[in-house]
Amino acid sequence: MNAFDEAQEQLNRAIAVSPVTENLHTLLLKPEREIVVSIPIHMDDGSLRIFEGYRVQYSSLRGPYKGGVRFHSQADISEVRALAFWMTMKCAVAGIAMGGGKGGITVDPRSLSAAEIERLARGWVQAFYSLLGPDQDIPAPDVNTTPEIMCWMSEEYAKLTGDTRNATFTGKALTCGGSEGRSAATSAGGFYVFEALRPHIELPAHVKVAVQGMGNVGGGTAKIFREHGHTIIAMSDSRGGIYSAEGLDPAEVETYKKKNGNMKGFPNAQQISNEELLELPCDVLVPAALENQITKKNAEKIQAKVVLELANGPTATDADDILFKKGIAVIPDILANAGGVVVSTYEWEQNLKGEHWSEKDVLDKLCTLLERESKNVWERSVKLKTDLRRAAFSIALERLEEALRSKKV
Ligand code: NAD
Repeated sequence: MNAFDEAQEQLNRAIAVSPVTENLHTLLLKPEREIVVSIPIHMDDGSLRIFEGYRVQYSSLRGPYKGGVRFHSQADISEVRALAFWMTMKCAVAGIAMGGGKGGITVDPRSLSAAEIERLARGWVQAFYSLLGPDQDIPAPDVNTTPEIMCWMSEEYAKLTGDTRNATFTGKALTCGGSEGRSAATSAGGFYVFEALRPHIELPAHVKVAVQGMGNVGGGTAKIFREHGHTIIAMSDSRGGIYSAEGLDPAEVETYKKKNGNMKGFPNAQQISNEELLELPCDVLVPAALENQITKKNAEKIQAKVVLELANGPTATDADDILFKKGIAVIPDILANAGGVVVSTYEWEQNLKGEHWSEKDVLDKLCTLLERESKNVWERSVKLKTDLRRAAFSIALERLEEALRSKKV
């Protein structure tokens, strides 16, 4: 199954325990709009290359479309569609007044120079700017799109439209209207959700954590768990990972990786593959890279007590059932990684109001929201006697239904 089929399967499974009207179900089967474009870019050597770009505007039932832009060699319209669907559910479960969207470009950014990446980012905006805007569609960062890239996009949008409020792109650097706390928001949010659900899950006071993916989200998550006294036993990136029973310092691993290009040879650590990382005995497994990492092939071998899904769609649906039977709690992506979109929404609000909030204010507000919504999801799972994913979907669907009723579609 591709990511979109998986997403629809999750929807069907949630509807089976938490029915919705036929109208809502029908609306959620397809995106409202999806666009595929060719983006021509002049490369540094003078040649012209065409890159395929995407924007999927899945649902505007609860507000403007909201969702990141991914630069990845495997990105395609079906993946972007799935991610846009999950954004719809995520914004609803977080209770923010946003709909769901997502974007992407099929590209391996490691093969491009910084100047070529900048032209590509601006090219994406040139292709889509007429469909974007603070009341219409507000993109954000995702895999391989940095705060600097979001600044280029925001600046390009201002150039093309004359709208200089900076409220069309979020996840920007602080120098161009970004919010305090945005870069840490997804990982901090994941930690707040974990803490809120922790009383319901049997775990030792100090947990052993394995993190797959050490980008913005994975790196940040490893740091925040360590700051709270937990042990990071393994970390990885697309090239593989390292393991240390005594614990890794994520900041040191990051510095080492920057200097050496990868983690190979990191002192006092054992080299492991991404597959091995997922199967390590640990308390908390954090997939923070890409979709479809825990599948029916490896689910039986997962030894964690909790899977905290910081990536989008890391667990295949058939693996969900295996993990559930093994008593492993899966904290679903649409709740666990909602911190990013929530703080993106705070950034949008600050831009529109011309305000700049402190990091403490931003993270306190985020923590209050995620504690409340985690409690809601937990209570729903108890009420429906179901897993946390179906429970989170159930709450999201209820809120989408409310929006549909008020719109009288
Ligand atoms: P990023 O580009 O900063 O980092 C991605 C990391 O994953 C890199 O370390 C990369 O080496 C690693 N990776 C790629 N392929 C891998 C593989 N096959 N195995 C192991 N590692 C691999 O991206 P990010 O922003 O940290 O996003 C990571 C995940 O979190 C994605 O699923 C994204 O959709 C999700 N997410 C991100 C945000 C956000 O605010 N950035 C918000 C919500 C969800």
